[in-house]
Amino acid sequence: MIDYNQAVQRILALSTRGPVRHRTLSEAAGLALAEDIRSDVDLPPFDNAAMDGFALSAKGTVLRAGSEFEVSGRQVAGDDQTRAGPGAWEITTGAAVPAGFDTVVPVEQVSVLARTAAGDPARIRLDRDIDAGRHVRRHGEDVATGDVVLKAGARVAAAELAMLASLGAARLALVQPPRVALIATGRELVDDPAQPLASGQIRNSNGPFLAARVQVAGAEVVLQRTVGDTVDEYLAAVEAARARGAELILSTGAVSMGRHDFVPQALQELAATVHFHKVAIRPGKPLLFASLPDGVLCFGLPGNPVSSAVGLRFFVEPAIRARLGLATERPLRLPLAADYDKRTDFRCFLKGRVTLDADGRARAEVLDGQESFRIRPLLATTAWVVLDETAGPVRAGSLVDVHGLGHWQPPAIGSGE
Ligand code: AMP
Ligand code: MG
Repeated sequence: MIDYNQAVQRILALSTRGPVRHRTLSEAAGLALAEDIRSDVDLPPFDNAAMDGFALSAKGTVLRAGSEFEVSGRQVAGDDQTRAGPGAWEITTGAAVPAGFDTVVPVEQVSVLARTAAGDPARIRLDRDIDAGRHVRRHGEDVATGDVVLKAGARVAAAELAMLASLGAARLALVQPPRVALIATGRELVDDPAQPLASGQIRNSNGPFLAARVQVAGAEVVLQRTVGDTVDEYLAAVEAARARGAELILSTGAVSMGRHDFVPQALQELAATVHFHKVAIRPGKPLLFASLPDGVLCFGLPGNPVSSAVGLRFFVEPAIRARLGLATERPLRLPLAADYDKRTDFRCFLKGRVTLDADGRARAEVLDGQESFRIRPLLATTAWVVLDETAGPVRAGSLVDVHGLGHWQPPAIGSGE
């Protein structure tokens, strides 16, 4: 049986960056950039006033308190920078500093000595010294032409949208979200929440869980289907998935050693190459990874809800990341809140959360109820605590790996209540 690192190496070896599509800025939210973004403008684009006040020409010297100036013009946000004039110009925040001026004195630091008939300031006196260049936001101070402001793989969220809008990025090269098909296997499963359960039936919870997580991971669900425990139904679902262009096919259930665990046989009929079946992990050991002759990747996740969640988070998400052009994740390293009695030499993926101790230091907690059939503890899970193969019983305070719920979600910090 291979270990986790070997398994992920085999997955990554077959996971390359997906195709690029060009989209407008308004269509880019939530997608990953396919290319670095290099600015072809300065931000701010022109020198502008940081305060409401008066533009002055200091020419590198200090303007002394008591100096008086005639106000010969007014510049408001949106006015052209080439306007010019002697003395002082009244100016509003964000207005281009007119040609010939280099300093802005805030309105709070002057006395208005005279006003025009319309009530505008006509003559001012400085109440205190002002250094040359004060209260001017220089062009290029935030971003200079040529700067790389975003890297390929960055996810376009609010801050990225603000930056890209400021740069005037009209069309963006984005990574096409990987297309994922979800096949739930199990003749005991019922999808329709309104359908009463017959004896021996349960509801399909993996389907909704995986669909939600796949989307958060930056992929697109192109098919979701539940099949009974037959090779033929499975093959029909795979065909439907391929018809919708699925690049990753995830199935749950039927990969263990039971008589109805037919997924390996179905994959054989598809002439798939099985890269591994069974990994030294807990939960989720029977996990299977294969590829179809045309390169479509198939993950056979075990059916237990937590096993399939772990399979998605720690096997499928690395493949999604690679498809999105992202580097391998690095976990947080946090002290464990309490002793944990690890008794296996498998790698353990534990439902956990990050809380703060009395001094406000973050620590990792392992939740009660780690059995893989339990769904309820997932409600409290805000992070995954990962103990590697070499770990035995782990003492409180030892540093452990902590991953967020998804690869694009850093672990959330709870209050510890
Ligand atoms: P299997 O891997 O098919 O042997 O399934 C293992 C356990 O997970 C069994 O108790 C199944 O009933 C349960 N299970 C399988 N698929 C699902 C699903 N989609 N939703 C909820 N439980 C499931
Ligand atoms: Mg089953």
